[in-house]
Amino acid sequence: MSEALIRNLRNLLGADAVLTEPEDLVRYEEGWRYGKGKALFAVRPGSTAQVAEALKACHAAGVRVIPQGANTGLVGASTPDASGRMAVLSLERLNRRLEIDTVNRTARVDGGVLLSTLNGALLDHGLMFPIDLGADPSIGGMIATNTGGTRLLRYGDVRHNLLGLEVVLADGTVVEAMNQLRKNNTGLDAKQLFVGTSGVFGVITGAVLQVVPVPGQQATALVGCASGEAALLLLRSLERDLADVFTAFEVISAEALVPVFVHHPAVRNPYGSSQPPAYTALVELASTLPSAALDLPGLLEERLGAFLETEAGEGITDIFMGRAEDLWAIRHHVSESLRQEGKVLAFDISVPRSRMAAFTEAARTLLQADYPFVRCCDFGHWGDGGTHLNLVWNEAASPRPTPDLVPELQSRIYDLAVKGFEGSYSAEHGVGPHNQRFYEAYTPAVIRALSGKLKAHLDAEGILGTTKLD
Ligand SMILES: Cc1cc2nc3c(=O)[nH]c(=O)nc-3n(C[C@H](O)[C@H](O)[C@H](O)COP(=O)(O)OP(=O)(O)OC[C@H]3O[C@@H](n4cnc5c(N)ncnc54)[C@H](O)[C@@H]3O)c2cc1C
Repeated sequence: MSEALIRNLRNLLGADAVLTEPEDLVRYEEGWRYGKGKALFAVRPGSTAQVAEALKACHAAGVRVIPQGANTGLVGASTPDASGRMAVLSLERLNRRLEIDTVNRTARVDGGVLLSTLNGALLDHGLMFPIDLGADPSIGGMIATNTGGTRLLRYGDVRHNLLGLEVVLADGTVVEAMNQLRKNNTGLDAKQLFVGTSGVFGVITGAVLQVVPVPGQQATALVGCASGEAALLLLRSLERDLADVFTAFEVISAEALVPVFVHHPAVRNPYGSSQPPAYTALVELASTLPSAALDLPGLLEERLGAFLETEAGEGITDIFMGRAEDLWAIRHHVSESLRQEGKVLAFDISVPRSRMAAFTEAARTLLQADYPFVRCCDFGHWGDGGTHLNLVWNEAASPRPTPDLVPELQSRIYDLAVKGFEGSYSAEHGVGPHNQRFYEAYTPAVIRALSGKLKAHLDAEGILGTTKLD
């Protein structure tokens, strides 16, 4: 059966569009952090019509398909399962369409276009797609996971910047909804069904994105905070005074910050030989106004200084103004530095912003009481209520084997976030095999039933994806 399907696909799409050799398949079979399976073959269509042909053929043959973009997802949802019977539908060749409309301030792109390629083309027009992260995903993958990133505070997530969509359903039906309108209240906004649903409802082949002018100037500072509560007071003050130009508020705990300077001596440590305070906030302002009209660094320095003089500013220990590249380099080295410290169990959690300090404190208390050998190295996008609560331990010295410990820690931390703090077990990385059991544990039955009905309607044979949203 699969021999005939492969022959059919080669006839339809061209011989080089289908890969079957094990050495060619390896790179499609393993995810960035989680997910390792075995592919029956990989098919790489170069147009929407070819995606439709490929899906129609796989559907007719009863072969399950996993859509894959740049494979940078962090929940194991972009790789095939271990059965060896799933095909990978890679969108890497679906990258020809990239049309920029400067009057509409939109970009019309193929689903396989990479974020870096899009931003490279936009830059010539002084524009950018404002979802900013430390990876280079495809636009289709970003839509399927509803990527967040470091500037969500100012620009929102992918969902907020998506105007239109083109999707191919499991049986090859093309749904064309490449809307360019910012206002269009004409019933069901069907494109939203495909946002953040891990590609299980359809394959995204095209999108119309809203893009924004590149700010001409930025101002950045690191602000030492004696506690999480002090960081939240700073956030509130900056938002009240500077909302129009406030683009990022990232927070790094001392436990996550120190390893950056240990493992990357070239990254400048503003605290020198002193121990950093409990938290350090990275504050960024950005504006399209020229510096002659607005002195952004001066404004940031003045506002931070003024806050320091207030009662709410008592928890501020240090203020370091600095170049954006230098300060962001600190933030971008955190994850990789922690991996050099031992075993890392990463969490992508959100809670209401007002409860962030209390949540991280509660997590620390839980760990100190029951898992004193585990360090809580938390950092993340506090401006939008997100935290990457990374737990780190030395496996060789651990009193508990890792395979026992990991599911137990996951259950306890996720319970704390979801049940104790009205939070989410997946703030921005989406749902996949890595967190499937928590989707099942925390999603209301009525939502799962609705989602199951949609899946049955859009993909009756259940051939798309490894994630189950019913
Ligand atoms: C270093 C690093 C930093 C990161 N930082 C962030 C961050 O700050 N914020 C954040 O939100 N995420 C972050 N991520 C996660 C990741 O980059 C995003 O989830 C990204 O949007 C995935 O896009 P992709 O093209 O790599 O998709 P893939 O990994 O290929 O796929 C992800 C999911 O989307 C589906 N999919 C892919 N393409 C399509 C398509 N065309 N149609 C239908 N379904 C499709 C797949 O089946 C899978 O379920 C980071 C990842 C890394 C490695």
